[in-house]
Amino acid sequence: MKAVAVFPKQREVRVIDAPEPRLQSPTQVKVRTREVGVCGTDEDILQFTYGTPPSGSEYLILGHECLGEVVEVGNAVRGLQRGDLVVPRVRRPCPHATCPACRHGHPDFCITGDYTERGIKEAHGFCSELFTEDVAYLHRVPTELHGVAVLTEPLTIAEKALREVKRIQERLPWRHEPGRAVVLGAGPVGQLGVMALLRRGFATTVYSRSPKPNVKADSAEALGAPYLSSKEVSPDELVRRAGAPDVIYEATGVAKAAFETLKALAPNGVVVFTGVPAHPEALSLDGAELLKQLVLRNQVVLGTVNAADSDFETALEDLGRFRARWPGGLERLITARHPPEDFADVVTGKKGGGGIKHVISFG
Ligand code: BGC
Repeated sequence: MKAVAVFPKQREVRVIDAPEPRLQSPTQVKVRTREVGVCGTDEDILQFTYGTPPSGSEYLILGHECLGEVVEVGNAVRGLQRGDLVVPRVRRPCPHATCPACRHGHPDFCITGDYTERGIKEAHGFCSELFTEDVAYLHRVPTELHGVAVLTEPLTIAEKALREVKRIQERLPWRHEPGRAVVLGAGPVGQLGVMALLRRGFATTVYSRSPKPNVKADSAEALGAPYLSSKEVSPDELVRRAGAPDVIYEATGVAKAAFETLKALAPNGVVVFTGVPAHPEALSLDGAELLKQLVLRNQVVLGTVNAADSDFETALEDLGRFRARWPGGLERLITARHPPEDFADVVTGKKGGGGIKHVISFG
């Protein structure tokens, strides 16, 4: 079967003819891949700064944002049947008895670092015609979401983050309004973050590099989030125009942008970092001033990665809500669909450059 794989030692990416997977246990499901989204993590893997093949393999099959269709189920599989649409989770637990997070079904909080991630770390991804997966890691997708469900996985990043923010802000029992949010970055994780924040009632502003007009700004403003360019508006001016945010949702992976905007955060606010920086980035900041601000204003710095099964369920519910609230809004995030052969060119921007989310389609 056709698969897109990276060979880190040879520094190559190519379409390979991989062995067709077979069900290996009664709880496994065989899935035909429909679509795979590409993201910044794939870019890092293709620059060979991230990603590891499974042990014993010289290549890693790419792809972790996936929508597929069930073609076969093992004898013990309940709740899924041939023809169902599914989205797989990415991370699998580490093997250590001593990891409380993995042993409690939360590999997204793994403490040993020995988890695997499909398409990223020591486990093949979904950018192949077929894959198998245990039913426990698959989420059934309502048929009407078929055109947008490839966005489920990137949306789970926001779902987990906002679930955590809610828990943290329960420390302020007098607050009944969600307040104001600023989303840093207007890529797919940023745009989906905007939708998730607006859905929860946050007055949300997008703060991103490129000046208007551009498609990302158009998309954010069509959702109801004003867009300000960090090239034109300083963090102080951002506060004057939009008010100090109670939540900063960082979706750039750029340290300078993340730390410079921190000074805009309101007292008792939370800053959430979701971007994984790919390259070293020297940064000069007044550390004492930053510490003083965090302490004297009771602020929380939260890093968050990956997502749990409940976040996938919420993401699928939210996709339905988003479609009803912003008809065409999710579809607008998907800039183009490309054949698997174009994976590397799409990731590096040689093909279909610009836009928001690019998707590989298996037809
Ligand atoms: C994926 C996450 C993953 C993270 C770190 C992100 O692109 O969406 O599922 O945990 O990369 O590898």
